[in-house]
Amino acid sequence: LVQQALQRAGQCAALNGFVSLQGDEALAAAAAADSARTATAAPLAGIPFALKDIFCTKGITTTCGSRMLQNFVPPYDAHVVEQLHAAGAIRIGKTNMDEFAMGSSNENSAYGACVNPWGSDRVPGGSSGGSAAVVAAGIVPYAIGTDTGGSIRQPAAFCGITGLKPTYGRVSRYGMIAYASSLDCAGVLARSAQDCATVFQAIAGHDDRDATSVERPADDVQASLDKPLHGLRIGVAREYFGGGVLPAVAQRCHEALAELEKLGAVLVDMALANAHHAIAAYYVIAPAEASSNLARYDGVRYGHRCAEARSLDEMYSRSRAEGFGSEVKRRILVGTYALSAGYYDAYYVRAQKVRRLIANDFAAAFASVDLIAGPTTPTPAFRLGEKSGDALAMYAADVNTVAVNLAGLPAISAPAGFVDGLPVGLQLIAPAFAEARLLNATHQLQ
Ligand code: GLN
Repeated sequence: LVQQALQRAGQCAALNGFVSLQGDEALAAAAAADSARTATAAPLAGIPFALKDIFCTKGITTTCGSRMLQNFVPPYDAHVVEQLHAAGAIRIGKTNMDEFAMGSSNENSAYGACVNPWGSDRVPGGSSGGSAAVVAAGIVPYAIGTDTGGSIRQPAAFCGITGLKPTYGRVSRYGMIAYASSLDCAGVLARSAQDCATVFQAIAGHDDRDATSVERPADDVQASLDKPLHGLRIGVAREYFGGGVLPAVAQRCHEALAELEKLGAVLVDMALANAHHAIAAYYVIAPAEASSNLARYDGVRYGHRCAEARSLDEMYSRSRAEGFGSEVKRRILVGTYALSAGYYDAYYVRAQKVRRLIANDFAAAFASVDLIAGPTTPTPAFRLGEKSGDALAMYAADVNTVAVNLAGLPAISAPAGFVDGLPVGLQLIAPAFAEARLLNATHQLQ
């Protein structure tokens, strides 16, 4: 399997899905797994996977898609990496991504854009674009990504695969390079909900090195995959079908919902009153947290350091000027502005209040429905370069995904057919810790 994955990775090099490959290490691990015959003991034994380059890997360069971390070799593994290792999984490489996970197209990577396997002129989505592309191209059966505002679900939708964003705190963030800490979440991109369930089971669980990791044990999400959907109430949120959603995309999602109805689910028309404020609130809160998190890249401790600086101040400023790309700089500027004295109440505090309203809307809705559905994205994968010069158009692509992170909820994107030959995703959202329900419904649909 590992040989085949590496061979396929070579054939698909033009996708630019990987920032680095660890072929020799992977083959050695596979040989060891063969001789140890651990296949029955470890759930993912011998199975190749790819890891977003946002996760620290001991002794292996971890770039986070940035020039700033081009030569960063972490001295430790992320919790997710430890968990997968313990489950017998074999990492073949680290995947391309938008710099520091900021983006919706993978075009913000310092290592070049990644291409969507469904069309060489199309973006794979972002920020986990590489993880989605290498699964969709059949290189690996699953990849690990992160989702701060849609970065697992949106690329999964654009590449025609299944992407699970777990509940905030369900998977440890230890060793996952921080973008916006109150929103960041590690999860899975795979070909099916069943595969997502197997991998989720391996990475979920408490870790006391992440203060927001929940103590509650993970449910057995595999056990409930085959449960019939009779009586499952699915709220069809009007707002998720409005605005910029392409009619053909909405149509595919209604068709997928009709399939769920045939399987016994009950569709309920519903509203989410503050959904239209989600983008504005997210694009204040996420940059605010990012501006704080990224302060650590000062050229002193680790990361890029300008070689020619003549003073300490110049070393700070030139290291950051050279190390960060333009979208990261934009977020730092926006975030610092929103947090500065005089603007803090008007922007940051206000956005936090909107965040609470959005979470309250979901809580109220879940009193009468079990899941909430809508298109993952307003359009199928857009063209490379189509939105890269227009930050607001790029941000608008996240209209249906960011509210989930603001509320800390789990959500999944599942393939829902095609529009003009490009895949479209159906998003299902569940109450906190109801990953099993998402995976069950999606598995039944698949
Ligand atoms: N596109 C969103 C952003 O740029 C979400 C990214 C993410 O989930 N990491 O912030």
